[in-house]
Amino acid sequence: MVIVMKPGVSQEKIQALAASLERDHGVTVGITRGVGCSILGLVGDTAHIDMGKLSMNDDVERIMRVQEPYKKANRKFHPEDTVVDVSGVPIGGGGKFTVIAGPCSVESGAQITGVARDVKAAGAALLRGGAFKPRTSPYSFQGMGADGLDLLLKAKAAAGLPIVSEIMAPRYCELFEEKVDLVQVGARNMQNFDLLKEVGRLSKPVLLKRGLSNTYEEWIMSAEYIMAAGNENVILCERGVRTFETYTRNTLDLSAIPAIKRMSHLPIVVDPSHAAGMYWMVEPLAMAAVAAGADGLMVEVHNDPPCAKCDGAQSLTPEKFRRLMDKLNPLVQLMEKKLV
Ligand code: PEP
Ligand code: MN
Repeated sequence: MVIVMKPGVSQEKIQALAASLERDHGVTVGITRGVGCSILGLVGDTAHIDMGKLSMNDDVERIMRVQEPYKKANRKFHPEDTVVDVSGVPIGGGGKFTVIAGPCSVESGAQITGVARDVKAAGAALLRGGAFKPRTSPYSFQGMGADGLDLLLKAKAAAGLPIVSEIMAPRYCELFEEKVDLVQVGARNMQNFDLLKEVGRLSKPVLLKRGLSNTYEEWIMSAEYIMAAGNENVILCERGVRTFETYTRNTLDLSAIPAIKRMSHLPIVVDPSHAAGMYWMVEPLAMAAVAAGADGLMVEVHNDPPCAKCDGAQSLTPEKFRRLMDKLNPLVQLMEKKLV
């Protein structure tokens, strides 16, 4: 952190500020005296220093962070890619590309088990299915709740796929710890800090979706919350962000893939379904995500999209999903460096 002092501030005041920063925050402060003004260079852990409070000091002209406010998620302090183990399925690290697939919502035992078998046969490594749904309208289908998780467990046993489902509130932590292999925190809850702290205490890995209008840094700071609470197994999921464009449901931000890989060591997967909002756009966006270096995909697949209780328009049929996987495979192998 660099603090630029206002011109004319006395050396005594500058020394006093430096001493208080060293005393209160355990940092080392170097003072550079210029012709017009002096600059304080802070070395050490500045994550706890409140820039807002510091800026209230009348002698301070400007404050700049030179280091990111996140540590555990920071690539600088952890150069190696993190590989998250989801009940035996490794995600990240440039190894095997992982496809998560399944319906937006669990609707019945036959539905989820049928889709589970179909996506497994097509090459998916994990089964998704929402049991607690974050819906814009309180009158829309809210999900099957805990019964939905039990149906997911039956589908898991039938198809042999670990399961991922979204948690909406801290009070469900015990239930998810017991039943789910990968705990999803949805876009709408990305900055629900109480929830982040609680999933940070779970032993299960967490899939953290990007908020609807959040920056990379805010997203990584949310991962930092989970990691700071003790759970370092976090996978990030880009699912499109709000822009001025209304043609698509969201705008898929492919730049997130190389950016996150530079900023953080955590794996990143891409959800083209919630980004596009239209089934026919899922394939090109999925191809682009693979080519840009994503560690995996999350794709919505429904047995009967026109009758789906949620997100039918963006859901692939099992047949379309199989064709997508066939099309993705050569590119995936190329990216996994099996063909080069
Ligand atoms: C979902 O994956 O079911 C979902 C609700 O996605 P998002 O949080 O990205 O909107
Ligand atoms: Mn959905």
